[in-house]
Amino acid sequence: MSNLDPVTGTFSGNRGLQIEEPLIFEQGQEGRTGVDLPAPPKGADRLGGMARKGAVGLPGLSEPQVVRHYTRLSQKNYAIDSGLYPLGSCTMKHNPRLNEKMVRLPGLADLHPLQPLSTVQGALALIDQVAHWLKTLTGMPAVAMSPGAGAHGELCGIMAIRAALEHRGETRKRILVPESAHGTNPATAAACGYEVDAIPANAKGRVDLEAFRAKLGPDVAGIMITNPNTCGLFEPDIVEIAEAIHGVGGYFYCDGANFNAIVGRVRPGDLGIDCMHINLHKTFSTPHGGGGPGAGPVVLSEALAPFAPLPYVVHGKDGFDLVEHDEKGRAFGRLKGFHGQMGMFVRALAYMMSHGSDGLRQVAEDAVLNANYILASLKDVMSPAFDGTCMHEALFDDAFLKDTDVTTLDFAKALIDEGYHPMTMYFPLVVHGALLVEPTETESKDSLDLFVTVMRGLAARAKAGEAQHFHDAPKLTPRRRLDETAAARSPVLRWKPTVETKQAAE
Ligand SMILES: *Cc1c(COP(=O)(O)O)cnc(C)c1O
Repeated sequence: MSNLDPVTGTFSGNRGLQIEEPLIFEQGQEGRTGVDLPAPPKGADRLGGMARKGAVGLPGLSEPQVVRHYTRLSQKNYAIDSGLYPLGSCTMKHNPRLNEKMVRLPGLADLHPLQPLSTVQGALALIDQVAHWLKTLTGMPAVAMSPGAGAHGELCGIMAIRAALEHRGETRKRILVPESAHGTNPATAAACGYEVDAIPANAKGRVDLEAFRAKLGPDVAGIMITNPNTCGLFEPDIVEIAEAIHGVGGYFYCDGANFNAIVGRVRPGDLGIDCMHINLHKTFSTPHGGGGPGAGPVVLSEALAPFAPLPYVVHGKDGFDLVEHDEKGRAFGRLKGFHGQMGMFVRALAYMMSHGSDGLRQVAEDAVLNANYILASLKDVMSPAFDGTCMHEALFDDAFLKDTDVTTLDFAKALIDEGYHPMTMYFPLVVHGALLVEPTETESKDSLDLFVTVMRGLAARAKAGEAQHFHDAPKLTPRRRLDETAAARSPVLRWKPTVETKQAAE
C-alpha cells in the first residue's frame, strides 16, 4: 500500500482520533470565507497613500474549518487540565474554576485602565486587598504589584536595589548567585549590569556558607537566593546569610517562586530578606500561560520601598488614590503601562479568600507531603539526589540509570508515551542528569499512585535492558522524537504542502 503514511500506518495520517493538522495557511484557499463582509466604503484616502493595495495573504477558510483547526490544536496541548504535570520548580497546580467565575464578573471583566479613578474604586480596593495579603503572608511592609511575571519581578527587585545603592551614592559591581539558582537569577543580575559571582553548593545541596563568606566584600550589591531552593530543600542558614550580606551593606533578594512550599508557615520577612517576587501563577493558582499575561508582585523591605516602580495604590482622603509621580524622584520608573494584570489579581484574591489563612497553610503542608510521598515511593528504585526529606519537590539524579544506556532525556520521552508531561530535567545543574518532580498539593493520592506505578515500571524496564524502548520514545504522540540539535540549528517552520493544497494553490 504505497499511499500509507509511513509514520502512522494509516491512509489519512491520522492516528485513532488524533487528527493530523496542517498549518492554517496550508488549509486556506482563496475565496473561501467564514463571514460576509460588506465592500469597504469608497472615501477619501485617510492614510496618506499608505493604504494596502493588494491581498495580505490571510488564509481563506470556512467557519467549520476554523473551529476544527483550533479545537484540534487545543487537543494537542497537554495542560494541567488534562493530567498530572510534574514539572519541578514550576508549581503546575490546579486552577480553581471559582477564580475564573470571579474574573468574568462583568464589573471586573469590563474594566478599562483609563477609566476615571472615581469609577474604579472597587478595582483599586481589590488591588489593595491582594497587596495586603501578600504583605501579611510574607511579613513585608511594601509590595510592587505591577511586574508581569517572576522574571519581571526579579528585574523589579534588582532595579530597586540598584536605585537604593545609587541613592547612597554607591555603585557596586557583584551579585552573588548560588550555582543551583534558576537561570532567571543570573540573567537578571547580568541584565542590570552586575557581574554574577556563583556560590557553590555543598554536598547537602545548600549554599556553602564558607564559600559565601569568602566572597563578601564592599563591592557586593546583593545576593539572590531561592528558598526553598531549586533542589527542593530549605536553606537552613538563611538568617546568617541575611545578616552577613547586610553586614557588608548589600541587599538580600529572595526568589519566591517556591513560596507554595512555605506559605502560611514561614514569613520570609522574618528571615531578613529585602525583596522577593511572588509568582501568582505558582503559589496563588492563576493560570500559567505562554509567558503571560501573568503577575509577579514584589514585596519590599522599608529600605527598598521608596524605590518601588510607579504607579501604586494608596489610601487617599476620599477613597483610593493612585501615585503616578514620585515627588522625591526615588522611584526607579515604570515596569508596565498601567498597574499590572488585573485579571490575575482577581483570581489570586479569589484563591486567597476561598482558602483562608488555615487553608493556605494547608496548601504548603500538602505540597510538601505529596512531594515526600513521591520521594518515599521511588527512592528504592530511583536515586534521590540528597538524603532526608524534601520540601515541595523530589529531586533524583541519574545514578539509577547507570549502565542501562538510558539517559534522563530518554526516560522523560518514555514518560510522554505513558501520558505524562515530563518532569523538569537536567536542572538544577548541580545534580547530574537531574529529574525534578513537583506534584503540588492538588493531586489526589490515586493520581500520585498511578504516577509512581509508571515511574517504577519505567525504572524496572531500564534496568531490565530495554534501552531500545526508551530510545524509540515517544511513539504514541502526534510527533516522534525530534532531532533536537537540528531543530534548533535549522528549524523548518513550514509544513510540507500536501498534494491537495498544492493543487489548490496552482
Ligand atoms: C518559575 C521560576 C522563576 C521565573 O518565574 P516566571 O514567572 O516564569 O518568570 C524564577 N525562579 C524560580 C526558582 C522559578 O521556579
